[in-house]
Amino acid sequence: SALRSTQIKKTKTVCTYCGVGCSFEMWTKGRKILKVQPVPEGPANGISTCIKGKFGWDFVNSSDRLTRPLIRDGNRFREATWEEAIDRVARGLMRIKEKYGGDAIEFIASSKGTNEESYLLQKLARQVFGTNNVDNSSRFCQAPATTGLWRTVGYGGDSGSISDIYSADLILAVGTNTAESHPVIATRIKRAHKLRGQKLIVADIRKHEMAERADLFIHPRPGTDLVWLSAVTKYIIDQGWEDRKFIEERTTGFEEYRKSLEPFTLDFAERETGIPREQLIRVAEMIHEAKSVCALWAMGVTQHQMGSDTSTAISNLLLVTGNYGRPGTGAYPLRGHNNVQGTSDFGAMSAYLPGYQKVSDPEARAKFEKAWNCKIPEKGGFDNNSCLEAIEEGKIKAMYVVGEELTTTGSDTNYIKKMLSSLEFLVVQDVFFSETARFADVVLPACTSLEKEGTFVNTERRIQRIYKVMEPMGESKPDFEIIQMVARACGANWNYSHPSEVMDEVAKLAPIFAGVSYDRLEGFNSLQWPVGPDGKDTPLLYTERFNFPDGRARFYPLEYRHPLFPDDEFDLMLNNGRVLEHFHEGNETYRSPGISEKVPNSFLEISPELARERGIETGDMVRVISRWGQVRTVALVTDRVSGKELYMPMNGRGEEAINILTGRIMDPDSHTPAYKELPVRVEKIGKK
Ligand code: SF4
Repeated sequence: SALRSTQIKKTKTVCTYCGVGCSFEMWTKGRKILKVQPVPEGPANGISTCIKGKFGWDFVNSSDRLTRPLIRDGNRFREATWEEAIDRVARGLMRIKEKYGGDAIEFIASSKGTNEESYLLQKLARQVFGTNNVDNSSRFCQAPATTGLWRTVGYGGDSGSISDIYSADLILAVGTNTAESHPVIATRIKRAHKLRGQKLIVADIRKHEMAERADLFIHPRPGTDLVWLSAVTKYIIDQGWEDRKFIEERTTGFEEYRKSLEPFTLDFAERETGIPREQLIRVAEMIHEAKSVCALWAMGVTQHQMGSDTSTAISNLLLVTGNYGRPGTGAYPLRGHNNVQGTSDFGAMSAYLPGYQKVSDPEARAKFEKAWNCKIPEKGGFDNNSCLEAIEEGKIKAMYVVGEELTTTGSDTNYIKKMLSSLEFLVVQDVFFSETARFADVVLPACTSLEKEGTFVNTERRIQRIYKVMEPMGESKPDFEIIQMVARACGANWNYSHPSEVMDEVAKLAPIFAGVSYDRLEGFNSLQWPVGPDGKDTPLLYTERFNFPDGRARFYPLEYRHPLFPDDEFDLMLNNGRVLEHFHEGNETYRSPGISEKVPNSFLEISPELARERGIETGDMVRVISRWGQVRTVALVTDRVSGKELYMPMNGRGEEAINILTGRIMDPDSHTPAYKELPVRVEKIGKK
């Protein structure tokens, strides 16, 4: 009503730009966002936010928003009613199921969407189509970290809370550009550094802000983190600095693990990683001197062929030194998407049912089969990376993609586009007409997080509610409704009237969510899983038990395999990552004028020495060429990078999109693309 649109409304919501999960009150008048106001009750952030959370919301009112369903008509799309579009989707998917079986369809859940939506999409895949082909974008980022933690400590999530990071004696930050990727966590570290004398070791190949602030900055050769981590751990044991009591009482497999460290001498590590021996010893000493150590890592570790193993090496090091289960200790793989943790937690994974119950476990399967009255295959399905090869092999014929900009964020985008265009049927559900939507047969307009209700899980396993700030734009709808419409049109009897009913169902089926309910999550209240039936949550994991039947952590021996190094043809190494201002492919942030004016396009960081050698200056246009593709961009000479190492933001678009360059090599354990293992060469095209 006219009256309502003149009143200021304050609604609690949670930021969708990173895994920190800052919550705040959004002040609105109708669709106009007046202010983003963090409040002291915000459990992850208190009164802080960063530029994205504060100013990154204009996209919600962008004139580019999809407001009506679209149906392909030859080379074009035409607008359609919801009825026609859903009918087309249901008929398309059912036809594939009848012709090739449900395993010929891949479902991709959005890591920006809510937990309830992700649960519904995987339920659609499993109950209605009888397939485990369902995944989410954790495959592209932190799946290797999850693998490393499953192997060693048992839960695939941060072991403590963000507040614990503040109380650590020492932060070991590996391959995380925390100041730009998880700004509010970086602020806590900066404060602890200043006020508490907290020490900071940064291991990275780029001298970013946190590296500048570090007490010790080490720069390994790209892709060799496993080597220095293992060498430091070996040195600690050789000095007798391991935590004997902890190892004896709380772990298994130490002897075998200790033996596996034999090749990782300081000499070998120095040679292989390029880190001087004195620095390796200093890292070991600093860990030994600290009463509590938190290890933080992100995609600098995970997006390599050894991503899972390197994550495991970090966890092994924490176990050797007894740095689990106390405040200020533990493992913190920092989650990228706002809900990449929750999307995985709620079962949008090809090998896991909700709450990390394995599809290969007959008991878990039987429980879900009974509840859903269906048959679930015991074999895991294709994930959102391996499904591409499955398309090529003719095994996948259709996809239902929710909120994933696959053609930009997946690795080797030329290949991805080819695969998508060879599908028989593609449904894309998104807020914008994405690059991926170009390949679709039907495009369904989803609404944004501000236009719906549900819950997210942040990087510290914290479940938080979002409330509806404004009505959906045009005819767009919450994924929660759209997925149900599709399920019903395919014959399922689904009638959830509110996301809370989905949560009640999950609580019955997944023990880690046993005591989760919307009542307990009211307002700024939150719960960190696992949550017992009585509603007691777990801010700090492993205080008494690790998540294995015997309660003991497991050491996991590792071997080093050479990463891709530069060669004669591709003589430089290209790294990539975030810039503070943008989020992923930029579909939202480029549509937020406050942000896109500040950082309008991509660039290639080149070291001063390489720039001199190649005659390249800041502002020159360059072509970057890899085995898989080439991009054009602008050179930026900076000493943030050194030698023959280059850096590009991962948020470039069109001709500058980084994943034109990245290839199909991946971590064999998690299938995560090795985005950061990228030899290239550079040619100067001319002056800007
Ligand atoms: Fe949003 Fe992350 Fe910034 Fe917090 S730190 S406001 S969650 S982008």
